[in-house]
Amino acid sequence: MPQAHDIGTTYRAHTGNLTRNCLSFRPSRLDRIAATSSPPIAAGSHAVLTSHGEQDVARGNGSAMTISACRSCGGSDLHIILDLGQHPVSNALLAEDDLLKEESRYPLMVAFCRDCSLLQVTETIPPEHLYQRDYPYFSSSSPALLEHASALARKLAQERNLGPTSFVIEVASNDGYLLKNFVELGVPCLGIDPAAGPGERARARGVPTITDFFGQRLAESLAQQGQFADVFIANNVLAHVDQINDFVAGFARLLKPDGIASFEVAYAVDMIQSCEFDTIYHEHLFYHTLHGLVPLFARHGLFLNDVELLPIHGGSVRIFVGRDAARTARLTRQWEEEERLGVDRDDYYVDFSARVLELKSSLAALLTKEKQNGRRIACYGAAAKGATLLNFLDLGNGFFEFVADANPFKQGKFMPGQRIPIVHPERLLADGPDNVLLLSWNFAGEILHQQDNYRKAGGRFVIPIPKPRIIGPDDRPSDSQFAL
Ligand SMILES: [Zn+2]
Repeated sequence: MPQAHDIGTTYRAHTGNLTRNCLSFRPSRLDRIAATSSPPIAAGSHAVLTSHGEQDVARGNGSAMTISACRSCGGSDLHIILDLGQHPVSNALLAEDDLLKEESRYPLMVAFCRDCSLLQVTETIPPEHLYQRDYPYFSSSSPALLEHASALARKLAQERNLGPTSFVIEVASNDGYLLKNFVELGVPCLGIDPAAGPGERARARGVPTITDFFGQRLAESLAQQGQFADVFIANNVLAHVDQINDFVAGFARLLKPDGIASFEVAYAVDMIQSCEFDTIYHEHLFYHTLHGLVPLFARHGLFLNDVELLPIHGGSVRIFVGRDAARTARLTRQWEEEERLGVDRDDYYVDFSARVLELKSSLAALLTKEKQNGRRIACYGAAAKGATLLNFLDLGNGFFEFVADANPFKQGKFMPGQRIPIVHPERLLADGPDNVLLLSWNFAGEILHQQDNYRKAGGRFVIPIPKPRIIGPDDRPSDSQFAL
């Protein structure tokens, strides 16, 4: 049951200068951020903080580490705002052979750091359990993501006046879906991504790519080679890196004096406001607000200067970071909006858990009623958020017939926990389930368009978030209603 409680006070002793300094990050003192922030953390020191702040809580056949110190500031005043229960790793799809084995399950909880306002999951899953996927993900498979990337590249190239003597680095560059735009514009660039398959494809299309994890070690090696960035991009990765200080220190090392770093992260304000609890899973370690981000960058001598609100992934922010303070009016406006909401205080999160439970009940009631009326139900989108939603709903064996997904590497496998078979999307038309629960609701516009024939044949989609609703064959939702 979701509930709010404190992580034990046993670990509160771990409060050094970092914590005290971060406590001075009151909203009204944004101007004083540089003055109040801690000095940059030395290489590797976060690892020390983490190893002191974690507890081995071996459970079942898997071993997770429960943090008792914030991964960003090291403070120990962590407050649980949501407890989704025990979940398997969301991305760990099962092969047929795995169905005979028991799955490891880990607590899935989100804590609010009262010292630096950062939201984070409390468990650190061992990498050997997290990265056991044997299916590659290629960003280029989503037309909407391609267009989003192309628009960003064009905008940055124009605004930053990029040319043949400039240098762009992207972390989590995947198959070069974004950097290929810079290659076409004649701007030298470098991609960094630990995934081998997508990296090979990037190199094949002319995007120089290093297959490695990014952090201070790699940054130092690139710095020795004189590879400093005018523009440094990292989209949808900052929230997934456990050693977050090591990661940001790498950016601080490689950014040119007048360079900018651009990060896209899911925006926790949208998650809280729209009840997007299914975006919570073990690999998604952090849920960002500006209040949680500013101290992180300040610790490494970087300033969060600008923010754009984006509809992608249920609400994201694109933030711009530089070596000098140059805060824009819209950054100040959004900071003040967060201040008005109170994102740096417990109160803001107090009813989140109850709203999540309410959504779960109403969605379960809607689906159960459909089932009782003899209607068949399938799902669409075998992504991590789908696993969180299905495992939290826990409607039992056989409730959903299958999960359709366009990624051929996922087809033939089974959803973790609920063990629902994953099939090609053509099964929607062929089998004709009456309803499809859209797990990847963040791509609703694109998927409804792709599944027009299924809808014309009478198929209905159930959109779960922010409030469960059915999109019938005659409904023609505009893309703006269902942005990315
Ligand atoms: Zn913190």
